[in-house]
Amino acid sequence: MTVIEVTSAAELSKKQTAEIEKVFSAKHKGEKIDFVYKIDKELIGGILVVDGDKYYDGTYRSQIDKIGAAFSLSDKYVEAATATKRKRAKKPAVSATAHTEAHNASLTAEHIKADIDSELSGKVEKYKRAFDVRHAGSVEFCGDGVIMCNGLSDAEYGEMLRVENGAQAIVLSLTDGHVGAIVLDDEDKVSAHMLVNTTGMIVSVPVGDKLLGRVIDPLGKPIDGLGDFTPDKYRPIEAPAPAIKDRAKVDVPMQTGLLAVDSMIPIGRGQRELIIGDRQTGKTSVAVDTILNQKGTGVICVYVAIGQKSSTVSNIYNTLAERGAMDYTVIVSATARDSAPLQYIAPYAGCAIAEEFMYAGKDVLIVYDDLSKHAVAYRAMSLLLKRPPGREAYPGDIFYLHSRLLERAAKLSPELGGGSMTALPIVETLAGDISAYIPTNIISITDGQIYLESELFNAGIRPAINVGLSVSRVGSSAQTKAMRKVSGKLRLSLSQYRELAIFAQFGADLDESTAHMLEHGKRTTEVIKQDVHCPMSVEHQVIILYMTTKELLKDIPVARITEFKDKFIKFFDIDYADVIAELQKTGELTMDMGITIEEAVDEFSRLFLKGVSNE
Ligand code: ATP
Ligand code: MG
Repeated sequence: MTVIEVTSAAELSKKQTAEIEKVFSAKHKGEKIDFVYKIDKELIGGILVVDGDKYYDGTYRSQIDKIGAAFSLSDKYVEAATATKRKRAKKPAVSATAHTEAHNASLTAEHIKADIDSELSGKVEKYKRAFDVRHAGSVEFCGDGVIMCNGLSDAEYGEMLRVENGAQAIVLSLTDGHVGAIVLDDEDKVSAHMLVNTTGMIVSVPVGDKLLGRVIDPLGKPIDGLGDFTPDKYRPIEAPAPAIKDRAKVDVPMQTGLLAVDSMIPIGRGQRELIIGDRQTGKTSVAVDTILNQKGTGVICVYVAIGQKSSTVSNIYNTLAERGAMDYTVIVSATARDSAPLQYIAPYAGCAIAEEFMYAGKDVLIVYDDLSKHAVAYRAMSLLLKRPPGREAYPGDIFYLHSRLLERAAKLSPELGGGSMTALPIVETLAGDISAYIPTNIISITDGQIYLESELFNAGIRPAINVGLSVSRVGSSAQTKAMRKVSGKLRLSLSQYRELAIFAQFGADLDESTAHMLEHGKRTTEVIKQDVHCPMSVEHQVIILYMTTKELLKDIPVARITEFKDKFIKFFDIDYADVIAELQKTGELTMDMGITIEEAVDEFSRLFLKGVSNE
């Protein structure tokens, strides 16, 4: 016996059911049919007919879904959608129930008949207009956030499925006769034998200005306790990366505010720079400082937390909020207690939010903290879906997981508005092993890396950047002229110093030039130390580097360098404001400016050493 299930938002009239039965009886000639009628208010209007593994979806809900609202429909949203629909139909306003009934009447047997006819005659175009025909299936197995379904013969990789209770799932595995998917929400409510249908859509997230200052989960639900918001727009979480012809050269600096980074590992807008290091080496701090440094620059920031502790995310939120950085920042958070599927989609959701701003012509900075945990979440899901494990038990497409994400960062060409998305992915290593699977993959995808080392961190050299192993493949084209001038030899002299320092530990007799190099190296190391959450402007960086490379600090005791640096900058800001303004305006360091800085250092160091500088 064939069972045909008809679900409507309101009860159908006798006439309507008779018509439906007539149409389907004609379709299944000679078979015995059992019609089951159900009512589901969530459909809002229209009807849904399930015939075997075919799904005739003529509901309002699917139409609202199609315009982008893929999520549980808040009352407000339903109202708005119904109102729009009403306006379009140019019918006089009627009450919601009356309207639903009217719609039921207009979308019943007649449409189904037309649809079946057109399907049969191959007129897909006409057919799509009123009813979506989707394939249905049922859940065979569910557990740990994963479902295996039968049926669903038209399912595509990455497509969103809808389970009977409204839960959403993403297709990740297509095998003979089975479709494996991960459940995004309401996982506990999904059980075996539930009906599932394909939707032909990709999961979307809310995007736009309303998100600024908010903390959301990867599905776009606010989790900061500041109340709901009505999104203006949605965007699919997966999207193709900009094509080669759509990209422009990366040549505008993305200032991190960290002296060591901006001088030796310059990052450009549109670049992807990996932050890599062991646990507790200051990786997050580098990213957060970069966000803090974007204040007043018009750069929008997106911080994606993947698999972190809720307390860590809350600390980051507080740090950003206290310093006024939440005004231009969105936090997307899938913490360690969230399901693996949520952690898996978090970076793609963040990327879609950033993309919206980028295509609107803005500059965006996005931090993925961190992709190691992201890979682990993906591995867990893949194993549950019984996909074959490869190296370190990661599935075969683990490279694609991150390459398709990071490729979406770009500097767009002027024709496309010239916006940019700079990505700072973070990867955690184990015992400094950067040649492990995930680190090497991501190193090969990104345009350089900032390598942080526990040894340096513990020795008090913070940020603990290993200059030798850090690189930016965009290089000095993303630096101002002044910065290029003063930072040229810095990397080399620091590397030489570190080598010599190891050698000098053995207490060998040092010749004069080696001793001098060691002294200079010690001071330079001191100069590039920087406290957490104290980003520095480019002008200040240029001045400090100028006095370092010109060896103007040779009379200052090494232990007092940090103090000198801070006090001198304050002094210079007040007494030489014109030089700072000039540097800011032109981005160039002229000979005259150099002389002025030398005089200022001379004057100030005398006061400093005498102990009379109290600025
Ligand atoms: P995890 O592996 O836990 O994610 P992480 O590598 O992201 O750690 P952070 O959380 O950024 O490291 O920093 C660890 C600690 O080091 C924090 O307490 C932070 O305040 C401190 N720290 C980071 N950078 C500096 C710095 N430049 N100066 C002083 N302290 C710092
Ligand atoms: Mg961290």
